[in-house]
Amino acid sequence: MACQQSGFQPPTLELRVEALGETDNLNEDIRLALTVAIEDSFPVIPKPSGSDWLSVQHEDGQTVQQFQRTPKTRPTTRCHVISIQPIGDFSSPRSPDLDIVCEFSRLFFPGCATELLPSVEFDNKIKKRIDPFSNQPQYLVAGIIAHLKKLQRKRHNRQELFSIGVTMSDIYPRPDWNFVYGSASIDDGIGIYSFARLDPLFPYSLSNSAQRPCTEPERVLILKRAVSTYVHEVMHLFGLEHCIYYSCLMNGCNCESEMDRQLLYLCPICLKKMYLSFGKERFRIKEMYQGLLELCRKVEFQEEVHWYENRLRLLNFNT
Ligand SMILES: [Zn+2]
Ligand SMILES: [Zn+2]
Repeated sequence: MACQQSGFQPPTLELRVEALGETDNLNEDIRLALTVAIEDSFPVIPKPSGSDWLSVQHEDGQTVQQFQRTPKTRPTTRCHVISIQPIGDFSSPRSPDLDIVCEFSRLFFPGCATELLPSVEFDNKIKKRIDPFSNQPQYLVAGIIAHLKKLQRKRHNRQELFSIGVTMSDIYPRPDWNFVYGSASIDDGIGIYSFARLDPLFPYSLSNSAQRPCTEPERVLILKRAVSTYVHEVMHLFGLEHCIYYSCLMNGCNCESEMDRQLLYLCPICLKKMYLSFGKERFRIKEMYQGLLELCRKVEFQEEVHWYENRLRLLNFNT
């Protein structure tokens, strides 16, 4: 039913090839990563169903050429720091490990220094309300972004490219919206992302406490959703729009179950955009894939371990 609203059709091979553009003049490793065994490693985006993002949102897609024409932020030697600013309480045993989020950030954004700042409290001036559906406090996005801007001015770090606020509290963008996972002021390079709803126990109640330690599968699930939200949103700050070509970290998503279907990798089209933005000196695909494989092993993201092992083998990058 919802499918008829957007009428989205998965793109044909011809459209995918056109969106990727020329690869002949690229460095050997990235050229291989964008052209070898694509059908084996990158499933085409499926036809959406139910309340999937593409059932209800119209997306034109962004080809590599369109991306190249868009004004965007690129890291430079002078300006390359991504600051992660935790806001509010992260002491719950159910909070994702922010050091691991930083480790993924360093691999996905090579040449950028990701720094985890000491936690700050919510400023009293930030507007909040109690969400009638979850019965949890929610903070207004605009107030948090203004607060992040103030903190950024105080730090006065000229090397800072982006300031990314992360919080375990629920957030909302406008009075008529019930919640949002994240929001950004692209011109300011400031984003705020909430991990509140990534916990399968959300919304917490007395019988279902935010203080209950995670089971191992819960820890992996919450961490993976947090990494996925963070990397996806920071890629938006680098100018990448939603991907409509393959199953990809840059697919739009409406709910956690849709988020869980997308593994932590970029399709060839999104990968080429990042490569062109970061440049061949920073963006070394072989090292990136090897680093991601090791980190996924460490945090037990099993599906990603299989994907990166398989991809490295197909590319003959194991040496
Ligand atoms: Zn998005
Ligand atoms: Zn993509």
